Amino acid sequence: MSKAASPIAPLDLAAERAFLGPALEAAVLSVLRSGRYIQGPEVERFEADFARQSGVAHGVAVSSGTDALILGLRALGVGPGDEVVTSPFSFFASAAAIAWVGATPRLADVDPETALLDAGRAAAAVGPRTRALAPVHLYGQMADMRAFRALADKRGLAVLEDAAQAHGAARDGATPGTLGELAAYSFYPTKNLGAAGEGGLVSTNDAELARKLRELRDHGSPAKYVHTSIGTNARMHAFQGAVLNVKLPHLPAWNARRAALAAQGIAAGVHYPRPIHLHEAARPFGYGPGDFPVAEDLSLRVLCLPVHPFLEDAQGDRVAEAVLTLAEA
Ligand SMILES: *Cc1c(COP(=O)(O)O)cnc(C)c1O
Repeated sequence: MSKAASPIAPLDLAAERAFLGPALEAAVLSVLRSGRYIQGPEVERFEADFARQSGVAHGVAVSSGTDALILGLRALGVGPGDEVVTSPFSFFASAAAIAWVGATPRLADVDPETALLDAGRAAAAVGPRTRALAPVHLYGQMADMRAFRALADKRGLAVLEDAAQAHGAARDGATPGTLGELAAYSFYPTKNLGAAGEGGLVSTNDAELARKLRELRDHGSPAKYVHTSIGTNARMHAFQGAVLNVKLPHLPAWNARRAALAAQGIAAGVHYPRPIHLHEAARPFGYGPGDFPVAEDLSLRVLCLPVHPFLEDAQGDRVAEAVLTLAEA
């Protein structure tokens, strides 16, 4: 098969490994030899560096983006009887995390241009039981956090940002975790910053929330054999901290490279093929077809294109040409 016809993958982990070279393997090997496999210095360094790089005071590493959402909700005191407003156009975890802590997801439709939760529509979904807003940042674009902060302040709500797709993002000068009380990140391998396995982090400027999160991820334990609340085991593996420490310094350049490709018109990448409210597991939330027409329409027109930072320029051109040909057909 000629190079021009070879398939272009949505992400290229082999190219990424080749780029990072021996640094990645050395980092993993050093953890193996250290015998410190859970949390420890690599994870602590990652928490501090990630928080600093994303412009917030505290980072609490956890075992996945889903756990970041669940523990974030728990730290905010969200539980049974509460409602949380989020987007129907996201990965299912955005709503499932709310249900998992015993609360009820209230969905509101998205903006047709950006596919992001619309603050005006979210305001209409706020009721007397609403405790928090959970806007989702998609494909590196951030929801209108100034509008969500204003809404939250007006109605006495907390804001948990689903930043699983927003590493290194900013809007109007504000990074995730700045205008919301908490931001939840995922380091699933396909995310802009991916671990070599599962990983997540909650960022915040609130020292008390950070303290609560550290307890919740470790069985409500502020010190060995002391348990002051009911938590879970959501600690990050040292291997993931070490891998993420090697990759983190490259994040700004990788994001810039994705944006260069986006400027060429290649970043039309849109998932999800089915909005959250139309999944079988979402039936208890009480929605049906037609309830969120923008999200439903977007879900029928989804197109996911490769825009990873290791895409060669010639490959990017091929993707762009293919899209243009499709658009003309
Ligand atoms: C990936 C993702 C999650 C879940 O993160 P995991 O690390 O896979 O648990 C949640 N929300 C959004 C928007 C995501 O893209």
